[in-house]
Amino acid sequence: MNTRLVVGVTGGIGSGKSAVTDRFAAAGVAVVDADRAARLVVEPGTPGLAAIAQHFGPGILNEAGWLDRAALRRLVFENPAERAWLEQLTHPLIGEQIARELAAATSPYCILSSPLLLETGQKDVADVIVVVDVPEEVQVARTMARDDNDAELVRKIMAAQMPRAERLDGADIVIDNSGTLEDLDERVAELHAEFLARAELAREG
Ligand code: ADP
Repeated sequence: MNTRLVVGVTGGIGSGKSAVTDRFAAAGVAVVDADRAARLVVEPGTPGLAAIAQHFGPGILNEAGWLDRAALRRLVFENPAERAWLEQLTHPLIGEQIARELAAATSPYCILSSPLLLETGQKDVADVIVVVDVPEEVQVARTMARDDNDAELVRKIMAAQMPRAERLDGADIVIDNSGTLEDLDERVAELHAEFLARAELAREG
């Protein structure tokens, strides 16, 4: 059981999740990344990968024995039953991996960074939910600049994610990242002070 304050950070593609969590990490806060946990639980040699290979066949692995993520995405994309099967396997494994990493963290509070925080049971792990928010056109422009993608692809990815209004509804705290990176430095510093104070209170309580 993790007793340390856990701050969940989420946001749509290109909203600035990494920019935010990089800043907390630079302040010495442990950052657990749900995407990284999701990759770890299907690495070669894991029970997760063995179950996937048994279910979908060895063709789902590349020559080196790693999961072919693109092939898996194609398989489950238009097949809700297969997607459900995959999620009932991976979500608990990812949850356990996240719990292990949070338990190993030694900073006064920790961050759980996840694009799917609000869509999954991961939100239950977080004591505070922070949503990084920018207008949709800023999301498109920044993602295009970062990934060298066209606007159409970025909009498709956004359409598959939780709508902005719904995500904002799930927030305890919103980080408006429509300003400069210097503005973001300031906002993160302010929140870091607040979370340290909360963590201190929780420790005393
Ligand atoms: P996410 O992790 O949510 O997909 P990133 O943190 O990678 O988003 O941010 C998307 C892109 O926008 C990155 O290239 C990042 O450097 C840039 N970026 C983030 N915040 C700002 C900002 N306030 N001003 C300018 N560029 C930003």
